[in-house]
Amino acid sequence: MLTVLIVEDEPSYLDALRITLEPEGFTVETAPTGREGLAAFETTRLDIILLDLMLPDISGLDVLRTIRRHSDLPVIIVSAKSSEADIVAALELGADDYLTKPYSSRELVARIRANTRRMSTGEVDEVLVVGDTALDPSRYEIRIRETTFQLPRKEFELAQMLMERHGRIVTRELLLEQIWGIDWGDSKTLDQHVRRLRRRFEQVEGAPSIATLRGIGYRFEA
Ligand code: CA
Repeated sequence: MLTVLIVEDEPSYLDALRITLEPEGFTVETAPTGREGLAAFETTRLDIILLDLMLPDISGLDVLRTIRRHSDLPVIIVSAKSSEADIVAALELGADDYLTKPYSSRELVARIRANTRRMSTGEVDEVLVVGDTALDPSRYEIRIRETTFQLPRKEFELAQMLMERHGRIVTRELLLEQIWGIDWGDSKTLDQHVRRLRRRFEQVEGAPSIATLRGIGYRFEA
């Protein structure tokens, strides 16, 4: 059974989330402030966190920053803030997904499942090697020659999909569907993750590159 921590100060949202998630088989933990959310994160075994941004004590982004210093646990931001700047800031800090209020409960449940799927299977895949680059699923690492990067989960999955199909075009639709699980109306998150992966590659001489085919997709070139 999956345990969801909801960090949210608005009681009506908390109740609605509990009513949505408990019948789906989730165990629900709640925290009405950022500090209580962090305390729950430290003391409870969790599978995923739903995090509000506007909290009464510390901001949701500060909570996320602290969590990312210690853990790769999936975090979905659930916020009334819907500007591109807010979404990009949260993804840059390592949020796995972003849902704006009001949201549909079916979509929320689908996103929770998509973001916990890989974690819960616990499968150990083999190391994938393309040219000088090796991807290790058991450690979420990518090794390019002598340099190793620990990747956040979504970035890892992106690298994996591109490497598995190296030399071929991987469409934006396929990446969004496979990595984010459902139709993601706003695909800025994909661009953001590609940019982060490229920035890592740029640090290594002779590293592979990711070519953009505008409006179509990406290609991993060793
Ligand atoms: Ca709030």
